[in-house]
Amino acid sequence: MKSVIVVGLQWGDEGKGKIIDALAPGFDYVVRSNGGNNAGHTVVVDGIKYPLSLVPSGVLQGKKLLIAQGVVITPNVLLDEIAMLTGRGIVIHLTIDPRCHIVMPYHQLLDAANEQWKGKLATGSLHLGIGYCYEDRNNRHGIRMEDLIRPNVLAEKVRLFFPLKKAMIEKAYGMKTNMNVDEMIKTYSAYGKRLAIYVDDVARLVGKDIDRRAFLFEQAHGTMLDPVFGTYPYTVAPPTIASSVFSSVGIPSRELPVLGVVKAYTTRVGNGPLPTEIQGNIGDQIRAEGAEFGTVSKRPRRVGWLDLPQLKFAVRVNGCTALALTKLDVLDSLSSLDACTYYSYKGTRLREFPSEMNTLPQCKPVYKRLRGWCKDIGNIKTFTALPAEAKSYIQFIESELEVPIRYISYGAERGALLCR
Ligand code: GDP
Repeated sequence: MKSVIVVGLQWGDEGKGKIIDALAPGFDYVVRSNGGNNAGHTVVVDGIKYPLSLVPSGVLQGKKLLIAQGVVITPNVLLDEIAMLTGRGIVIHLTIDPRCHIVMPYHQLLDAANEQWKGKLATGSLHLGIGYCYEDRNNRHGIRMEDLIRPNVLAEKVRLFFPLKKAMIEKAYGMKTNMNVDEMIKTYSAYGKRLAIYVDDVARLVGKDIDRRAFLFEQAHGTMLDPVFGTYPYTVAPPTIASSVFSSVGIPSRELPVLGVVKAYTTRVGNGPLPTEIQGNIGDQIRAEGAEFGTVSKRPRRVGWLDLPQLKFAVRVNGCTALALTKLDVLDSLSSLDACTYYSYKGTRLREFPSEMNTLPQCKPVYKRLRGWCKDIGNIKTFTALPAEAKSYIQFIESELEVPIRYISYGAERGALLCR
């Protein structure tokens, strides 16, 4: 069995958690490669919801779990998640790379202050401090897991960096902070003490075993949130496209199958372009049916029709070899479905998402109308049992994107999945 990269092809929330959970039994390891606790995944087994934000989605299948250096960790959130899972009787085999960066309380304050300062241009960040943690990683002001587990190093670094952060919060943004540096060091040292048992070199472990074992690489977020190839600047801080797995984990690049996860319609949370956005009743209906509210934020997600130019771009940039189509059941009650086949731009047809974000406002989505199935598909067990219109919708997507749809998810439960 080969290793596989799983990547979201839209703006995140495609249902990667469910797909990873379902595929995990065929793998030895599940590796989370990027993002922080702003990237929530939900796995549902026997009616019980497991909201995950840092623990890799293979946890319920008893797999060995790795958190690679590309992930930033909010220690209390990870500890709470571990406690939630172990409290439910789940055994966790977790290894965290010592190079992972730690989200500190001042990152959260800077995040809130900056969003306030941006006003209408705010990206819709949840003030979790994830982007600011990545920023400190890049400007070499970061605190890594290897520091968190060494109280003296932690104290020295926090004392060095904190005065600058405090000055930025108070003097540049004009926000008051009553953070106490001694308290912070004490609290974070205690977190480090509890997390130390999980720390080991993930890059080395994966590099050593990649030819002998099967790894399922879990990329958080989605292609259109990539800081370079996404809808910049309404993007996240870490790279999200499939090829970034290699540098995020720390292994040489190689040819690996890439499974792109596509929701049967489009959603995005927060501000930024969403060309096929649906206004009005149908959008509200899909949002309600699909429970399109953020796992972490609970914010309503914006809803749009399937956007084929966007997906063609995502398939190409990720090198998808197969697709998983999710949330097909959410469309059950619609009598017709629109799918954007191209953008009309200054009299030309754009069949792929443009590379320049400045052109997007002038791109007008042009739709093809397909028939809906108006049937509950919740109890079907085979592809052939799907209504003809649902099969047509799947085959239409497949032929437009020229990649086979191997998995079709038609419910949140683990078992609601067709494999072709
Ligand atoms: P991720 O970040 O890509 O893992 O996606 P999320 O977990 O944020 O959002 C997906 C949500 O949809 C979760 O609540 C899942 O339980 C749910 N979900 C996943 N697949 C399906 C599906 O096929 N049908 C329905 N109705 N819900 C699904």
